[in-house]
Amino acid sequence: MPLLRDACLNPCKAKLYKDTVKQSQNRWIDISVPLQSGMVHWPGDPEPSFQRIADIDQGSDANVTLCRHTAHTGTHMDAPCHFIPGGDGIETFPLDVGIGRARLINLPTTAIVSKDDLQHKGIQPGERIILKTRNSDARWHHLDFKADFVAINASGAQFLVDAGVALIGVDYLSVGAYEGDGVQTHRILLGAGVWIVEGLQLGGLEEGVYDMICLPLPIAGSDGSPARVLLSKTT
Ligand SMILES: [Zn+2]
Repeated sequence: MPLLRDACLNPCKAKLYKDTVKQSQNRWIDISVPLQSGMVHWPGDPEPSFQRIADIDQGSDANVTLCRHTAHTGTHMDAPCHFIPGGDGIETFPLDVGIGRARLINLPTTAIVSKDDLQHKGIQPGERIILKTRNSDARWHHLDFKADFVAINASGAQFLVDAGVALIGVDYLSVGAYEGDGVQTHRILLGAGVWIVEGLQLGGLEEGVYDMICLPLPIAGSDGSPARVLLSKTT
């Protein structure tokens, strides 16, 4: 596993890691980003670290990696308790919400996603909606934190709640803006039971309907978890 060890010793070299939207041998497209030491993270959070603490090359019986990062690292889900006092933890995420049809909506010129950007998209109750924005023009997970990423504002969040969506996915580290009403956006969505997946890499994907598999780890009581998210174009 030389890549893993490099990631521990040299974050820059780790950025050479294989690219993001990976078309597998079968029909599934991986829209998760690789987790690695030194990767972009929310300002103020500790830098993600994946450190080999036992190494066969050093005489250990096995290789063992210590993972140190917040629940909101890379591609991840937010649980209600992330912003709602007494809210559910990520282990309560219903598998039926994470597995099924999802619709990718392309908003290539939008700077902040508001009600105006969403209200003519025919969004239906129960839909899983993934928003592709100009965030996905860059391999953002290889870059430094970008404070002016495209996010959903409070009016957009309230529209999604009123429309009755089951899940909303976005292509940067937060569904809400870094400054301004980002907290409000989270509270509106999580308070209404809308599940949030953040940190998707959607470069190269077309607008349309996909099958989706989105599964966070069942970390008991956690306000979030890294997630593996796959899409497959429906025919
Ligand atoms: Zn989060």
